[in-house]
Amino acid sequence: MKAVTVIPGVPESLRLRDVPKPSPRRGQVLLKPLMVGVCGTDKEIIEGKYGKAPEGSDYLILGHEALAEVAELGDGVDNVSVGDLVVPTVRRPVNCDLPVDYCPVGKYVEHGIWGLHGHAAEYSVTDAAYLVKVPKEIVDIAVLTEPLSVVEKGVELGVTAYQSRLGRRPETALVLGAGPVGLLATMVLRLMGLSVTAVATRPPDSLKAKLAREIGATYVDAAHEKLAGTYDLVVEATGATSVALEGLARLGPGGVEVLLGVYPPGGRLEDAGSLLTDAVLNNKLVVGSVNAGLRHFDAALRHLKEAKDKFGDWPKRLITKTADLDNYQEAYSWTHEDIKTVLVLQHI
Ligand SMILES: [Zn+2]
Repeated sequence: MKAVTVIPGVPESLRLRDVPKPSPRRGQVLLKPLMVGVCGTDKEIIEGKYGKAPEGSDYLILGHEALAEVAELGDGVDNVSVGDLVVPTVRRPVNCDLPVDYCPVGKYVEHGIWGLHGHAAEYSVTDAAYLVKVPKEIVDIAVLTEPLSVVEKGVELGVTAYQSRLGRRPETALVLGAGPVGLLATMVLRLMGLSVTAVATRPPDSLKAKLAREIGATYVDAAHEKLAGTYDLVVEATGATSVALEGLARLGPGGVEVLLGVYPPGGRLEDAGSLLTDAVLNNKLVVGSVNAGLRHFDAALRHLKEAKDKFGDWPKRLITKTADLDNYQEAYSWTHEDIKTVLVLQHI
């Protein structure tokens, strides 16, 4: 079967390979992937900066953001049926008894990223216990479930922490970044009824700015406008250290900043003392969040359905480019105007 592969650690080793079709072991299912989303993590793996092949393999099949059809059941599987549409979660624990999304580095493997093959292939296998079933109505956008699950976990952390400390729900949010994660965070927070300001460095007439405004957010072009005011919640989705620190400064009393980026080493802070004292005097909280559990995938599916009902084709417009397996390289290259690029393995 055909699969999109890399040799981890080797830059520009992305290629289509003919590899053996996998078969499901006990408790597993064989999946026929329909769509696979591509993100910054794939980019890092392709650049040779991250990623690990499974034991005994010299290559890694990419693809952690998948929508798939169940093609075959391994022994002992009774929670899904052949033909079901599903989204698999990414991470599996290795000798870790914490919730899987809280397992530390070294105590997990991840499909398409770290030690497990992914779904950018004609077939893949995964554990049946880590599947969520997709309602047919949202099959066209369900490939967004995995990136949205990461947002759901971050937003849940932020909202719960704010509410438990201040005894009321947050009302205002600042979302830093208008890539897929930033726009999905804007969507979830708008669905929850918060007043949202979305910030990016794209011009006001860009698609990203338009999409943010269309669902009722205020858009700020940070290249030309300075941020002002304070917010109950800040969701950081740029991965830029200076932006994350600015986010902390923009929190109001009891505010919570959720960091969803990965920040480059180094970076400088001119006045750390004032920023930290302000954090103390205003009871500010900063929380990092990575990966997501099954309940966040369920929340993501609920919000995708709600967003489609309320905002029409808005979620689908986040998918700015699709490519077939034969043109797979197209899905792994994007411009600043692209939001989510998707590899289409089976046309629905
Ligand atoms: Zn991703």
